[in-house]
Amino acid sequence: MNPLPIHDPLINKDLAQVVSSGNLVDTFGRIHNNLRISVTDRCNLRCVYCMPEDVQFLDSKELLSFEEISAFVKIAVSRGVNKVRLTGGEPLLRRDLSTLVGFLSQINEIKDLSLTTNGMLLKSQAVALKQAGLNRITISLDTLLPERFKDLCKRDGLEQTLEGIDAGINAGFQSIKLNTVCIKGINDDPDALRILQREFKRAGGENHYFFCGRDIIAYRAFNVPIERAWQILNESQKGLSGVEQHARLSITHYKGKTEVNAVTNKPIPGLKGSENGVVIFKILRSSGAAADKGKVCIVGRNPEALWFDGYADRVLFDEAGLYDYSRVKMARVTHAAPPVPACR
Ligand code: SF4
Repeated sequence: MNPLPIHDPLINKDLAQVVSSGNLVDTFGRIHNNLRISVTDRCNLRCVYCMPEDVQFLDSKELLSFEEISAFVKIAVSRGVNKVRLTGGEPLLRRDLSTLVGFLSQINEIKDLSLTTNGMLLKSQAVALKQAGLNRITISLDTLLPERFKDLCKRDGLEQTLEGIDAGINAGFQSIKLNTVCIKGINDDPDALRILQREFKRAGGENHYFFCGRDIIAYRAFNVPIERAWQILNESQKGLSGVEQHARLSITHYKGKTEVNAVTNKPIPGLKGSENGVVIFKILRSSGAAADKGKVCIVGRNPEALWFDGYADRVLFDEAGLYDYSRVKMARVTHAAPPVPACR
């Protein structure tokens, strides 16, 4: 079976109606109600998949002030945004971040105000952030082993991060979630990952997203092949109770977040090209209005493949219209230089 034609939202009859509603709509026809704001490009770590040692930071005068950010958020809110996430770099490096949180929490339409952080500075800021109105925190942490932390982040900081997690949990946020990036040859160890999840759960956090692969082509060298990632996921769940129902392999993709539903060595009868088994992706998160949500994409099993775009020539069935081959080709060229650093 050849790949199905690319899903073209411009032929979606509902799109004109959606656009005229004043909401933020992208070229795929998705309505966006989430806004992610990078409050600084600086970071106190140098994760190997994110930030080179010699990165050039912006002059702090070039950053928007808290008043300017708030004014922008109000405009976004008037276009349908009701979820705001503060990120970086490392957002807690921005002085008095709780002041910004206070400004944003006064905007009634915002239903969810969250923060993604590496946690190193959370110990001293957790209470102020909670009191200012922050709802949720996602902590980026890839390992509990100090030497592995240093290999990965190029700095010491595990102790500080763990103290930050404790402080966040004690401050009583709606949720503290773990965000782990699984990297080939560095932390792709199921036993270590199992311990990380167990300890996080025991401390009172939720490891809702376990793997979060990034679709950054320039960093492919770090990416775990999808079949191996699936195997690690399953192996790392063994013997864990109260965790496994939340753990899943998720992949950030340009059409939204997708979930790997299965990897199998068995062919699917009648599906040409699936003789050696397949990977089945399901769209987990796209706009509520997108017709794609929950649809399935079946990809030919390819032991050499890296991440999602690596399967572009092997799509067997694309109900969701995930693949835009022209974009994939373009991305391979334009991502040749390292991307702008951004926290996970
Ligand atoms: S992934 Fe996050 S913590 Fe790591 S270097 Fe990038 S911004 Fe910093």
